[in-house]
Amino acid sequence: MSAHQAHTAVVEGVEVDTRHWIGGHRVASTTTFTDVSPIDEQPLAEIHAGTTTEVDAAVAAARAAFPAWAALSVKERSDILRAVADGIEARIEDLAVVETRDNGSLLRSHRRGVMPRVAMNFRAFADFAEQQLGHPDLEVRGHRERISYDPAGVVAIITPWNAPLMLATWRIGPALAAGNTVVVKPPEWAPLTASLLADIMHEAGVPAGVFNVVQGTGVDAGAPLTAHPDINRLAFTGSVPTAGVISKAAAANIVPLSYELGGKSPLLVFEDADLDLAVDLAVEQFDNAGQVCLKAARMLVHSSLAEEFTQRVVAKASTLVQGDPRDEATDVSALVSRRHFEQICGFVERAVADGARPLLGGGPNDELGGLYFRPTVLVDAPPGSEILTEEVFGPVVTIETFDTEEEAVAKANDTRFGLAATLATGDPARAERVSRQLRAGTVWVNCFFVRDLNAPFGGSGRSGIGREGGIWSFDFYTDIKNSVFAPSGWAEQAGQEGGSDG
Ligand code: NAD
Repeated sequence: MSAHQAHTAVVEGVEVDTRHWIGGHRVASTTTFTDVSPIDEQPLAEIHAGTTTEVDAAVAAARAAFPAWAALSVKERSDILRAVADGIEARIEDLAVVETRDNGSLLRSHRRGVMPRVAMNFRAFADFAEQQLGHPDLEVRGHRERISYDPAGVVAIITPWNAPLMLATWRIGPALAAGNTVVVKPPEWAPLTASLLADIMHEAGVPAGVFNVVQGTGVDAGAPLTAHPDINRLAFTGSVPTAGVISKAAAANIVPLSYELGGKSPLLVFEDADLDLAVDLAVEQFDNAGQVCLKAARMLVHSSLAEEFTQRVVAKASTLVQGDPRDEATDVSALVSRRHFEQICGFVERAVADGARPLLGGGPNDELGGLYFRPTVLVDAPPGSEILTEEVFGPVVTIETFDTEEEAVAKANDTRFGLAATLATGDPARAERVSRQLRAGTVWVNCFFVRDLNAPFGGSGRSGIGREGGIWSFDFYTDIKNSVFAPSGWAEQAGQEGGSDG
């Protein structure tokens, strides 16, 4: 094998470098791991497996690049990040086909929704930094208080596989816009588009060392990054158990954390709901084969509607087309890996053993084989059982009933998670009342998934720590400083007569 072949993979006709990107160079490791496609379980690429050595080099490169990147004007940085967004838009098709082959999500979603959003993750935060980041000076007893958003330093970013590039850039965009440098550890089950992003960053003029990628597993590359003494922020998107491990690793260095974790979100369907809309909202939960953190996995339906709602959800979900995600007609594809597929099989087998009844699906799609699990609707799961309490992260939903609004809210909030909640109601007063009572980072009323990038996003309870989006991202990725200037003529010039007690 030539050196060229060993360092690249051709995926759906697109050449992808399988090495790390550190300090503006491709860096090889001595060992690799195999990246497998969920579509057919065939090997796609041998990815260079980072360890402490590569992590140390990447953090050192990010540290060295920090002063010059932080010293750029906000406009200069934002212009470079808008060039990154342009570069992403120019390569949407490449990014879409590679991501689909790598993590099995629908090509049509990548083309039309996900990859345009990846570009927005740079454009929106570049614009925000330039146009909206700032705070009017305060005054106290003639003193001027200047509030500034200083870049924090080196940001470590660790992300999952269910929307690899979208979730990574949601952190990378604001971190860079705030003037930090970044080390990213992509998910080992879908590592390819992070490498393409490094090419795009380089071509867009992002200076060497500002953006670094260390490929590898969670244990070998992720763990040393989280424990590194020279990182200043740690942004993690992933599961609750991993977050627990990371918290311990980061504690020794007192590194501020931003966590976006799992969920067990409810869809509440009230007796006054538009049933067509409620059924549409329910069936939408099979998007990305249910591998969506925000997914409403628990459907809570007023008992007067339960029978009709359930029948209609089952009927509509049974028309979903399952198959190859590259096919435009496909609605539900394969699960990301053999291990994840077996986990989903285990959840459903145990749910049935506990007394739940599948009205649709309930197991693997034997016609397709591989990692394809049928869209599954379960009823009669016993209260408190695993399927109602644990995050499944697959194409599985449960339906329960309620009789009163109080019971609906109590059931919705009866979870350790608190990422999102969706409600369908025709009563505006109820919409206001119930949304106030739900414990969730995002509440959708008669809609789902709509959100401005400048709105806060995050979870309560086990679903996360902190909020990101707009100013909330900059709160996390900066050291906010208050500089207090003594009067020395300024207050007189400004015609001040003292301020409040500070
Ligand atoms: P995971 O926790 O297994 O892995 C996430 C990342 O952490 C991967 O890059 C992995 O390599 C790394 N990692 C694993 N062990 C590590 C360790 N010891 N130290 C450092 N890094 C380590 O999660 P996953 O299975 O990849 O993703 C699914 C989870 O992510 C679900 O719980 C889902 O709800 C959650 N998620 C949350 C959001 C959100 O915005 N709240 C979005 C998407 C996914």
